[in-house]
Amino acid sequence: ILPEGAGPQGLDTKFLQQLDSAHYLHPFTDHAALREHGARVIVRGDGIYLWDSEGNKIIDGMAGLWCVNAGYGRTSIADAVHAQMLQLPFYNSFFNTTNVPAVQLAALLADISPPQFQHVFYTNSGSEANDTIVRMVRRYWQLAGQPGRQAIISRRNAYHGSTMAGASLGGMAGMHAQGGLPIPGIHHIGQPSYAEGGRGMSEAEFGLEAAGWLEASILALGPENVAAFIGEPVQGAGGVIIPPSTYWPEIQRICDKYDILLVSDEVICGFGRLGTWFGCELMGFQPDLIAFAKGVTSGYVPLGGVLVGGRVAHLLTEKGGDFNHGFTYSGHPSACAAALENIRILETEQLVERVALATGPHLKACFASLVSHPLVGHAETCGLTAGLNLVRRNGETVHDCEPFASTHVVGMLCRKHMFDNGVIMRAVGDRMIVAPPLSITVGQIDEMVERIRYCLDLTLEEVTQRGWM
Ligand code: PMP
Repeated sequence: ILPEGAGPQGLDTKFLQQLDSAHYLHPFTDHAALREHGARVIVRGDGIYLWDSEGNKIIDGMAGLWCVNAGYGRTSIADAVHAQMLQLPFYNSFFNTTNVPAVQLAALLADISPPQFQHVFYTNSGSEANDTIVRMVRRYWQLAGQPGRQAIISRRNAYHGSTMAGASLGGMAGMHAQGGLPIPGIHHIGQPSYAEGGRGMSEAEFGLEAAGWLEASILALGPENVAAFIGEPVQGAGGVIIPPSTYWPEIQRICDKYDILLVSDEVICGFGRLGTWFGCELMGFQPDLIAFAKGVTSGYVPLGGVLVGGRVAHLLTEKGGDFNHGFTYSGHPSACAAALENIRILETEQLVERVALATGPHLKACFASLVSHPLVGHAETCGLTAGLNLVRRNGETVHDCEPFASTHVVGMLCRKHMFDNGVIMRAVGDRMIVAPPLSITVGQIDEMVERIRYCLDLTLEEVTQRGWM
């Protein structure tokens, strides 16, 4: 379908953009705005780099969408999937059947996850993992003889996916406004954002205060009605919101006190992002259920799932009978083959340890140095994810910085400069965030941060010209 005279690599960018615009509905996209400029066509990846159809080389500061943990260009993952597809591309696990990669991966996940996890339920995505969790925790309480426990407590500005249950668990007002969400029985408390809510308190005090909102919500609903609490160890899509160190242990204490299931959504934090295999290990809590996806295959093929802790697994497998839930592709052999090879890479190259000991601390130092930039109010990092706030006027503490009058505009300007200058950062309002592949080296972090600094200069110039500073 490509016309004569197509450009480099046989690609005609304009023509592809026209086809894209005519036929492809993108996720979370304003299509009228997209039509004006046309989508950028990404054609190749290697390591931390991407190339577009015009031949531009770009540092992927977002690891695809927080998922390409092992980096691009891993032929051994492609080989593993290829071999499995030749052997057995697909078979289901519904009717007393199983397949070799799904079993091997289940055992490996039990091995690398915290000790309470010996079972896995497979899905295709993070959203489906969270849908599974809603059904599983309600089924658990039915089996436990407390069917009144239906309520699930989550947080404002959380992201748990785009399916009906995932988007309901999530705390994104813009998503709830479309399609009659949340579904019944989902309740939201505030997020543990020190910058947003911690004025006049130390971080440690604020962590306890924010966890206390859970207890207040449990008491308002009645503990006998509450099934579970769900949270991301570090909120990703909400803007890399890193909770104070006091937050998660206090959440754990409250869940234990009222006998409520604790769920960790590790779709972003799992598989090394924070320098531990799972984010709950860094944050110091022991969940009953973990949602995972993304990094389990480094995004090479779709796979997600739920790690099921002993408390829930025991009832489900000993007393539960049929759990009437599952997907055609639960335990897809080719996807599980990709995950096995991906985890082997993370292990043999010690990429998780490298985040903890080398690349994570280096990213932290680099982002701390960006705070000297006149446009940057404050910056936070955790493992290999980081966020910085673009502000109108800098202050001594996070609470003294003055934001721009209309948020989103400066973040979008900055994102465009980044994209045009070969580095991908995501804008969440006026907060710029990164989460590069875990395979990034210390030298490549320097290269990325140098480009970020240059683009901050360009943004500052533009903001000054427009009289916004
Ligand atoms: N949970 C979290 C924490 C996520 O970040 C995401 C995706 N960004 C999801 C769930 C949904 O995953 P998916 O897009 O694979 O459905």
